Amino acid sequence: MNNNSQKFTDTSFVYDYVNRLSAFLNWHQLDNFISKIEVSDRTGCWDWTAVKRNDYGRFKFFDKMVTAHSFSARCYYNYSGSKFSLHDCDNRKCVNPKHLFWGTQKDNMMDAKKKGRIYDRTGEKNHQATITKEKAKEIKYLLKYNSTVIVASTTKTSLYVCQCIKWGKTWKHLNE
Ligand SMILES: [Zn+2]
Repeated sequence: MNNNSQKFTDTSFVYDYVNRLSAFLNWHQLDNFISKIEVSDRTGCWDWTAVKRNDYGRFKFFDKMVTAHSFSARCYYNYSGSKFSLHDCDNRKCVNPKHLFWGTQKDNMMDAKKKGRIYDRTGEKNHQATITKEKAKEIKYLLKYNSTVIVASTTKTSLYVCQCIKWGKTWKHLNE
């Protein structure tokens, strides 16, 4: 996989991603999936915020629990082969398809071994996102006319933050 990881700020990539996933997920599932992603501006990683196991994100697809990053990559690349999706970014909870590549079982084991020696930065990356009142107002306004994904990407804010504003979980008191 290439090293020019594109960030969520790249709107065309996000559109493309959502489009490709919509071939596999209905609107409710797609919304559910996207809402669990939090973008790290620093690394470009799409951190999975929901259920995790061994740091790997998990997603309930119909009645089956699937690995979030693998699911993300398989849908995005429309891949149904037997290879494993491995992280280029050393961040197990990342579901950004641009940070994933396909490898064999052997690659998987070698990769795990290699990464065992690498310091895990997931805790440091896991910060509480905070935004200013002005930013919240801007987001609230934009959400009236745009999808959450687009607002998150154009305002460089995490999807989670935008989703919370959309659902009225945060910044409810702001005048419109
Ligand atoms: Zn990543």
